[in-house]
Amino acid sequence: MHCGGAAVGGARQFSLAVVEWYRERGDRNLPWRVTRDPWAVLVAGVLLRRTTARQVLGVYGEFLRRWPSPRELAAAPVKEVERALRPLGMERVRARQLKRLAAELLARHGGWVPLSLGELVRLTGVGDYTAREVLVAVLGAREPLLDTNAVRVLWRALGVRPRSSRPYLDPEFVELARSLVPPGGSREYNFGLLDLARKVCSARRPACFECPVAALCREAREAPLTRLPRDGLPPLVKCRRPRPLEPARRVVCQPQREDVSPDAEHLDEPHGVIERDPRAY
Ligand code: SF4
Repeated sequence: MHCGGAAVGGARQFSLAVVEWYRERGDRNLPWRVTRDPWAVLVAGVLLRRTTARQVLGVYGEFLRRWPSPRELAAAPVKEVERALRPLGMERVRARQLKRLAAELLARHGGWVPLSLGELVRLTGVGDYTAREVLVAVLGAREPLLDTNAVRVLWRALGVRPRSSRPYLDPEFVELARSLVPPGGSREYNFGLLDLARKVCSARRPACFECPVAALCREAREAPLTRLPRDGLPPLVKCRRPRPLEPARRVVCQPQREDVSPDAEHLDEPHGVIERDPRAY
């Protein structure tokens, strides 16, 4: 089998490179990535839409402390939920969506989150992406997470893209993407691919010179000059120096590229946005 010209051996190398990179540079400590609680993953999936991870981190722990399962949330006054979500914005929409979700889980599943794709996608506000995200995060299921960013990397690296603007509607593409998920390594591979897409293979400025899959990437082979740092030098850094009257402090150097911050990327590429706006890639 071929992946847009890359043989299966290359596909395997691709997956392993992503996993290794994630172990070194991925955002492995995000609370919704370390938990195996399906409710916690589902809540994160809803909250992370159209907002940044940093903002969600500000409310997530307290939200789960107050409403640790669908049962508590279903019983909570909607105004209280709204207040808790105010720092994220769109709190009326989010609060009602989560309340509806909690009520459905209570009525149909006894307050548990079902761990089957078919049942998850039948829940209000849960699309293919979020459903698969729950299965990957909780069970380590061998499913691909195909948001806008992940699709972009597969497209560039392997030369394949879904025939539909909604990738989950293209069974061949999903099958191909699934074949790249290493057995036993679904969480690390999927989270790694999402992080790699945001931090390295960004939409406007892919940083191929620091990409772990550059040697396997079709796009990098075909347009290498546009993917290197200018003049072959390392990326520019901008140094922020202390103001003159401040006591001497350590000079802080920050990478200048706008896509280094993991949280910043969530701003322009909302988590799970593929369910609503798949046209961006
Ligand atoms: S080598 Fe460049 S274009 Fe290819 S996946 Fe990496 S960052 Fe993206």
